[in-house]
Amino acid sequence: MPVYEFECPEGTVSERLVKMDTKQIKCPKCGKTAKKIISQCGFELKGGGWYADGYASKK
Ligand SMILES: [Zn+2]
Repeated sequence: MPVYEFECPEGTVSERLVKMDTKQIKCPKCGKTAKKIISQCGFELKGGGWYADGYASKK
């Protein structure tokens, strides 16, 4: 199962191993609904963006 990041309304981000069709979890800190952050997958598929930024900031 893939690891996804979830962010609650208070800004707490938690990583969870969940099924692909899981869209939200309960935040472990505040108990509110944390929604899946899907933007990261998009960046990975593009292969540009954050890879380029990461290498650039290291050099
Ligand atoms: Zn929370």
